Amino acid sequence: SSRVMLGPLVAAIDQGTSSTRFLVFNAKTAELLSHHQVEINQSFPKEGWVEEDPKEILQSVYECMERTCEKLTQLNIDISNIKAIGVTNQRETTLVWDKETGEPLYNAIVWLDLRTQSTAELVRIGKAHHGLVYSKTSCPLCVCVCPLPQCLTGGKSGGVHCTDVTNASRTMLFNIHTLDWDPELCKYFDIPMEILPKVRSSSEIYGLMKSGSLSGIPISGCLGDQSAALVGQMCFQEGQAKNTYGTGCFLLRNTGAKPVMSDHGLLTTVAYKLGRDKPACYALEGSVAIAGAVVRWLKDNLGIIQTSTELEKLAASVGTSYGCYFVPAFSGLYAPYWEPSARGIICGLTQFTNKSHLAFAALEAVCFQTREILDAMNQDSGIPLTQLQVDGGMTSNRLLMQLQADILCIPVVKPSMPETTALGAAMAAGAAEGVSVWSLRPEDLSEVTSEKFEPQINPEGKGHVKHCYLISK
Ligand code: ADP
Repeated sequence: SSRVMLGPLVAAIDQGTSSTRFLVFNAKTAELLSHHQVEINQSFPKEGWVEEDPKEILQSVYECMERTCEKLTQLNIDISNIKAIGVTNQRETTLVWDKETGEPLYNAIVWLDLRTQSTAELVRIGKAHHGLVYSKTSCPLCVCVCPLPQCLTGGKSGGVHCTDVTNASRTMLFNIHTLDWDPELCKYFDIPMEILPKVRSSSEIYGLMKSGSLSGIPISGCLGDQSAALVGQMCFQEGQAKNTYGTGCFLLRNTGAKPVMSDHGLLTTVAYKLGRDKPACYALEGSVAIAGAVVRWLKDNLGIIQTSTELEKLAASVGTSYGCYFVPAFSGLYAPYWEPSARGIICGLTQFTNKSHLAFAALEAVCFQTREILDAMNQDSGIPLTQLQVDGGMTSNRLLMQLQADILCIPVVKPSMPETTALGAAMAAGAAEGVSVWSLRPEDLSEVTSEKFEPQINPEGKGHVKHCYLISK
């Protein structure tokens, strides 16, 4: 059979908290041609600890790559059309490995892990230092920050030990103003600077793939997952925002070339720097620790659903939480509270409450948490957002999307191709100097379609939906 004729293709490795994916896009149309996904096991060795096996993560990346290449070959698509690979990864998850052997010293400590809470508390008590850390990094100290960035591509792209500005800006060792590791902070946290990776822009050739079917292809994009989603949603204008519903929820709003400090519990992060000579762009970020993770909890811990997709049907069967409220603060509360000692609660139970109400309350919890962040963001910027672009695994839940539009009282817009995080990493890789197969102009991707969920109630809360009435009171 004949080969399918296509222009240049660009691939992305999306190493998320719950799974690893490899995806291949057409660089001209952003069409997703093929992909493969592998779930990642999490271990909870102690209360509050969350770990993943680095070897399993790496293995999953190779497996996804090989399986996707096989699928492309079956579709008669020539894999030699793949011109570049971008990497996007769970941010803040930390890994230390032996430089000589490449062996990890311990499991990857996942961003949800709370073991450093008491250390963070000590730093916070030393107010002078807290001020120093905050002014340079804009990282609130009550999050678990394990101060070493991970670099998945390191040993695998010709031994290049590097990361990009977006990942570095999450370590609490990186000065987001000078865009470099900060000697004072490294000294304070007692981290030898020589073990830190070299920090590069988010879009440039870092090295070439060393082995496998895609050996020799440049790795030329690298972004933390939330930054990648911002790029994939093409939020290149100041004021544009997106919310990603994965394990947690992350709302980022582009603030342009200037870092804006929040008065309402948000943090400031490097959004992207798309090229060595391009300026860095910043974002205000509001993070919710538990979003999709609550679905996983209902499945794994309570067993009230067998798969995540069953949740929608269960919740829709009642269409109300019947006064039940679920605050899934399993790992404390992130923005705007930053309260690591908070824990989850389910309240408002009656004799009548059943698992369907609980399922509905879980979806509402995700929407309420997003509403709090959006309110903080609107207060910080003074300009209310008129619509919210969304993506992430949970957005396949249409009930959630409609609830979200109702609870925010603004339209929620979801791209038809949901893999926005991977798309952003592929765009950065394809646009890199020396690759240049992808244009970053939104008008060149005008064929990308989306679906809009309009709020069914009015801002005064006079609609038929109970939850919005409660919020506006
Ligand atoms: P991450 O990048 O953090 O690994 P994803 O974007 O892949 O996350 O989203 C996965 C999360 O979305 C999981 O926590 C899962 O429970 C949740 N999820 C997936 N499908 C649905 C659905 N139909 N309804 C509700 N939650 C869902």
